[in-house]
Amino acid sequence: MDPIHAMLAGVLDDVRDRDAGDLAGYIPELAAAEPDRLALAVIGPRGRLTAVGDADSAFTIQSMSKPFVFALALEALGRDEVLRFVGVEPSGEPFNAISLEHGTGRPANPLINAGAIATTGLIPGPGLDARSGRILEGLSRFAGRRLTVDESVYASESATGDRNRALGHLMRSHGVILGEVSDTVEAYFRQCSVLVTVSDVAVMAGTLAFGGRNPLTGEQVISERTARDVISVMTSCGMYDASGSWLLRVGLPAKSGVAGGLLALAPSQFGVGVFSPRLDAHGNSTRGQLLLERLSDVFGMHMFEQH
Ligand code: GLN
Repeated sequence: MDPIHAMLAGVLDDVRDRDAGDLAGYIPELAAAEPDRLALAVIGPRGRLTAVGDADSAFTIQSMSKPFVFALALEALGRDEVLRFVGVEPSGEPFNAISLEHGTGRPANPLINAGAIATTGLIPGPGLDARSGRILEGLSRFAGRRLTVDESVYASESATGDRNRALGHLMRSHGVILGEVSDTVEAYFRQCSVLVTVSDVAVMAGTLAFGGRNPLTGEQVISERTARDVISVMTSCGMYDASGSWLLRVGLPAKSGVAGGLLALAPSQFGVGVFSPRLDAHGNSTRGQLLLERLSDVFGMHMFEQH
């Protein structure tokens, strides 16, 4: 067996029995997921992709879309303009908190729901279809293949999405969202409902890790500077109100999603995607985090490790 494959399969086996946590109950379609699924994929600088476990399982990207849509907004408008609408500070609050910066109404950062909705609103439309189309096309370039939306998850999110709609209306009252709130919030639900596998997630993470260049297709999807900006925010804010302990234990920029996906990367070295649907109280995959902690320990990948 290929040695990298064997090593990754070993790490997967180390955590296989850890079944703490619960499925995301607040989106009915996600509560119907198969909880024992477990998969891991890693991609290196020359596009070598290794995937183990249930690597063919497709799941929705959810909040792992947030760093990539932030990247698209940075590319479209530039950093200064984007920062007028969303901050880059850790919020220390749950991902769906109803909380905006005093005075300006800006959300704390683009990786919590409020900030992600504001960022989605910055992607040029006009209107839902144009905005959604542009986001799907952008996410597909990060993944290196044409991605699609899971229409049942989208319908389920939209049917139960009043908290996110409330955030949208609150931000519109501050001028952080311009135009129709529904055009922005529905585009956000659609971006969260994009279907991916762990291999897609690894390639997307890899595109950030390798300075914006997709390691599979060779396409320069975003500038090196944008990739650096996005990785910086992932380092401080990617795991919501667990970002500090994540940095301490794992030491890799990362982003989670409530369908159980987790992406992480080491700049210039690799991109990784993990899938395990049970979540902890912060909405982060329980076994996914253990898996990445183990991977970081085994390979000495913590960013502050002495080499
Ligand atoms: N679509 C989900 C929501 O808006 C995404 C949240 C997440 O993945 N943490 O609630």
